[in-house]
Amino acid sequence: KISKRLEQVASFLPKGAIFADIGSDHAYLPCYVCQKDPTAVAIAGEVNKGPYQRAVETVQAYSLQGQVEVRHGNGLEIIQANEVQQVVIAGMGGTLIRDILDRGKDKLPTTDQIIAQPNVDARAVRKWLGNHGFTITDEDIIEENGHCYEIINAKRLRISEKQNMDEKALLFGPLLLRKKPSAFYKKWEQEANKLERVLEQINQATKVDQKKQEQFMQEWKWMKEVIQ
Ligand code: SAM
Repeated sequence: KISKRLEQVASFLPKGAIFADIGSDHAYLPCYVCQKDPTAVAIAGEVNKGPYQRAVETVQAYSLQGQVEVRHGNGLEIIQANEVQQVVIAGMGGTLIRDILDRGKDKLPTTDQIIAQPNVDARAVRKWLGNHGFTITDEDIIEENGHCYEIINAKRLRISEKQNMDEKALLFGPLLLRKKPSAFYKKWEQEANKLERVLEQINQATKVDQKKQEQFMQEWKWMKEVIQ
């Protein structure tokens, strides 16, 4: 049994996936997917020794050595170009996910799907995807243990149909803006409240970064607007 969050991430993978899970920690996700689907194969990547060891142990515990290979290393450096068709990066900040994708973009010529679950700053991930030939085809937001998690599923564009995301779409998610699941309202209400406090502090400060203040004001207005 894995978390609802990882279950949702897994649901975006096709049958027979050949994928990498970067920052896999316990390797729960690749083991879950490969146990359910004997035709799937996975590489679990971990940069830290402890999580790497935990991943090895989970794979052994489920006797999945034939399907899940655990590799020790930073980001996408653990895969060869052409090795995987899908990349999953979940449970990290969006800027870290973006940096991992950007540093490893040479490894992605045959990757036609990226599933990202940024804990914060999903905007950075959407922007990178949009600028690197990926289209967001699905998005979801789910609530678990009081947290709201955004999950982004992106496919490589085969046709030259570029997804145009304006600032608002980058912030809220082009598809989430249309779907607005219940957790969407919860998340953006919380974020609007946080931003309100930040704006109060800015108002009391002696030196004000006006550009930043205006940007925050604009975002706060959007948040109020989308949760109406
Ligand atoms: N992906 C799992 C999930 O969503 O439940 C685990 C998330 S855990 C909070 C983040 C993991 O990413 C940690 O185990 C950390 O060691 C690993 N990590 C962080 N930066 C990484 C990098 N550059 N390359 C590979 N792994 C990384």
